[in-house]
Amino acid sequence: MTALKADDIGEERILQDVRGRIAAREGDLVALTQELIRIPTVNPPGAFYQPCAELIGERLRKRGFQISYVRGEGAPGDSDAHPRINVIARREGKRPGPTVHFNSHIDVVEAGQGWSVDPFGGIVRDGRVYGRGACDMKGGLAASIIAAETLIEAEPDLPGALEISGTVDEESGGFGGVAYLAERGWFSKPRVDHVIIPEPLNVDRVCIGHRGVWWAEIETRGRIAHGSMPFLGDSAIRHMGAALERLERDLFPALKRKTTSMPVVPEGARESTLNINSLHGGQAEPQGGSLPSPVVADSCRMIIDRRFLIEENIDEVKNEVREVLDGLARDRAGFSYELRDLFQVIPSMTDREAPVAQAAARAIRRVLRREPQFICSPGSYDQKHIDRIGKLRDCIAYGPGILDLAHQPDEYVEIDAMLRSAEVMALAARELLRGR
Ligand SMILES: [Zn+2]
Repeated sequence: MTALKADDIGEERILQDVRGRIAAREGDLVALTQELIRIPTVNPPGAFYQPCAELIGERLRKRGFQISYVRGEGAPGDSDAHPRINVIARREGKRPGPTVHFNSHIDVVEAGQGWSVDPFGGIVRDGRVYGRGACDMKGGLAASIIAAETLIEAEPDLPGALEISGTVDEESGGFGGVAYLAERGWFSKPRVDHVIIPEPLNVDRVCIGHRGVWWAEIETRGRIAHGSMPFLGDSAIRHMGAALERLERDLFPALKRKTTSMPVVPEGARESTLNINSLHGGQAEPQGGSLPSPVVADSCRMIIDRRFLIEENIDEVKNEVREVLDGLARDRAGFSYELRDLFQVIPSMTDREAPVAQAAARAIRRVLRREPQFICSPGSYDQKHIDRIGKLRDCIAYGPGILDLAHQPDEYVEIDAMLRSAEVMALAARELLRGR
């Protein structure tokens, strides 16, 4: 009993020390978040990656990190105008030991309409920092940098190594970023042991994985004819209408019946889902108010976005759609189709008993004095590449910010959440580096 008590006192002392040091850096944390937001790293096209990578790299160089800039050469979108520049910072401890890596993407989606503040101004109001990328995920990146710097200052004799990366293109699949680096060994043992991705998933939740994704294009074919005599042609749009009806009748109800043991949030995403991202049939409407020409559509294309569960197999996911379309090809005169794969991601889930998940959970209990929630994300993020390419399973997403605000106008991150999450990240990294 006495020993346990001493442990508790020790843990409380460490927490208070870390908390005090992070609180003293609040101004620095906010300023860093603002600086990051003010570099409009909008993707596409992937603008200003280099100055953003250098902001991170040159700051950490001054704190004893070795800095590598790695260009995702030849990756989609990489060009001399928009080079895919990633930054990886590594600081060796005093003795050998494991490596804890914080990975954040530096790209943001376009600002879009509806903002009441400058999306790239980084303004602070009511305890929040506003801007595109504030929550997804420059606030998390800044919090992880502050966490690592605090830990180094508080415990200069830590074993192992700390790494911080700022990587590109997460919003467009991560091919020039984490995937590129993972293919070259940056996210594998023995270089790295534990990865925390500070995506905005709320300060009391540990995200252990995500659902899978399959994007595909379905095209139906027809025969062009004059619009006044449609019986001389064959409408690709009507064929697509039939395909939609079949999806409604057969596939949507079947997907609703498939549920998962993954703790996906929100709960609606614990089923398989299908979204129709877009639909284009016939001639494009001309600009300037003129009318489209009267012809029967000879082509209609639809992009589908299927999100699937860890219990499902990607081939089975594709076959379900193919079966619906093959059924129509048998039943409906003139129906023919093509199905093209556009993009796919296999679901990924770390064991909740994995060291990084448990270290984060314990840190959340200590910092917030409540039970952490283990969740999975409805959409995917760079964990897929660390898992599939890097073969590193000890990876979670944990960071400040509210997921629902990502990609919205007036996106913000709460300063308090950044501070709390920095405490959690520092304590979790400490435990992973030196043991409990
Ligand atoms: Zn993100």
